[in-house]
Amino acid sequence: RNQIFKLSTGSTDFDKLLEGGIESMAITEVFGESGSGKTQLSHTLCVTAQMPGPNGYNGGKVIFIDTEHTFRTDRLRSIADRFNLDRNGVLENILYARAYTSDHQYQLLKNVGEMLHREAGVFKLLIVDSIISHFRVDYYGRKEMAHRQHRLGQLMARLHKISEEYNIAVFITNQIMSDLNNLEQSDPQRPVGGNILAHASTTRISLRKVLNGKRIAKVYASPNLADSEVAFTITSGGIDN
Ligand code: ADP
Ligand code: MG
Repeated sequence: RNQIFKLSTGSTDFDKLLEGGIESMAITEVFGESGSGKTQLSHTLCVTAQMPGPNGYNGGKVIFIDTEHTFRTDRLRSIADRFNLDRNGVLENILYARAYTSDHQYQLLKNVGEMLHREAGVFKLLIVDSIISHFRVDYYGRKEMAHRQHRLGQLMARLHKISEEYNIAVFITNQIMSDLNNLEQSDPQRPVGGNILAHASTTRISLRKVLNGKRIAKVYASPNLADSEVAFTITSGGIDN
């Protein structure tokens, strides 16, 4: 009953990169520039999580915490169409909450924990898109950094507990640093959130745009996955090959 499962990204190569997909009992983080596909991947997972998969996975409901107001039911409808799923059924299986501040985001996760306790086994995926945007606004500047990291650490601990206690795949999106001092050409994108996010995420994936509309996903400093990369596309049906 508490067997680990993996959720498809919608792209076979991307799934292979992750040795099957986004894992339960773990926190998967994607980061990348604006438009790199973080929110589109979040929407695709909302749908694939509802479909049966390998190892006896039967599909389940999804919790979506939206901090950037980029959740779109229209996108979900067209992704549902791609997989021949009932549109309304797909929407009904997504519990949506908008977080208005970092404190509110933290409180919402407390409520989520209580709800999961009551409704054990129903929800399989928890998305926070994005984990960091409110923290960057609410704790601004160097003096606030220690306080911000402390609160972010508490939030990540809560996510960690949820993923393990209820066998849930936690999927978070993160932003990148836009400093011009980063001269390391081979890896121009660095995630924000410092050590707290680095240590809390089980798997970190960078997304970037390349020419001809393709996107590249790359595993970032994983203890157990090779540091390789794959190409994928974004279609009306979500993330695809
Ligand atoms: P972010 O990483 O900032 O969250 P998004 O996931 O929102 O980025 O990606 C936005 C991009 O996704 C758009 O610029 C566009 O290239 C692509 N996209 C969005 N909707 C569609 C669609 N219906 N068909 C094809 N591509 C789309
Ligand atoms: Mg986004």
